[in-house]
Amino acid sequence: MNAVQIQRILFEIHSERKRQFQKWGDQNKSLPEFVSILTEEVGEVAKEANKFHNREPYDSGHKPKYDYEHGQIERLKWYREELIQVAAVAVQMIENVESMIKKLEE
Ligand SMILES: [Mg+2]
Repeated sequence: MNAVQIQRILFEIHSERKRQFQKWGDQNKSLPEFVSILTEEVGEVAKEANKFHNREPYDSGHKPKYDYEHGQIERLKWYREELIQVAAVAVQMIENVESMIKKLEE
């Protein structure tokens, strides 16, 4: 574990969390709705992982913009971006459940 790397990643998750807040506002979702949103994001991670694993660097129907190797690097970057989105949704869910607990304890 590298503290500098972790800080950089957490900063990125925070930026993504802010971006999601700007896009959707304060979301008052039920627990199952939040789990559904998280699962959708996890599905997008799986999609990118499968495309990388199956050596499918380009989206079907799109003209290849890159050579094969560059396409695979781009796929890994999209996979990473989807992981950041999963983490940001998880942060929001933690914020939400903390606020629910606080309200119930009052
Ligand atoms: Mg996504």
